[in-house]
Amino acid sequence: MVQDSIRVLQAQGYKVTKPRRQVLEILEEAEESLSPYDIQRLLRQQGKHLNHVTIYRILDLFCSLNLVHRILLSGGFVKCTLSNKEGCHRFMVCYHCGATQEFVDQQLCLQESKSTQNLGFHTQYHFSESSGLCSACYKKQLQKQEEAQPQSNR
Ligand SMILES: [Zn+2]
Ligand SMILES: [Zn+2]
Repeated sequence: MVQDSIRVLQAQGYKVTKPRRQVLEILEEAEESLSPYDIQRLLRQQGKHLNHVTIYRILDLFCSLNLVHRILLSGGFVKCTLSNKEGCHRFMVCYHCGATQEFVDQQLCLQESKSTQNLGFHTQYHFSESSGLCSACYKKQLQKQEEAQPQSNR
């Protein structure tokens, strides 16, 4: 919810300016990650005008507060859906439709940290993304495969 992010901003001592609220609202509605230019275009469609430097600055701030994450696979940005859930926020990114889904797995964090610690490295945060098909696209692909199969074996 936009309201949750606004509360985080206020709690950290940041003003909830109109542009900040507008960027949050655009990201809230998006189903896939957005570039700063996507955000600018979507705002323009609503008759709102922000230059991309302003959008970049807002995204930088939001990322530093973990309100927004940068998706490494696409280079775009998504609004955090897990609010302040502990652990590293990881993503599954569908290469077909671009849908992103966020999850946390603290067991996985512990395992990864142990692996790197064995190599003498002290990990503080994990960035990880899985590339593949979301459940909807996977289902569609299965259906297509079934349709393509010859019926002779019946
Ligand atoms: Zn998150
Ligand atoms: Zn998909």
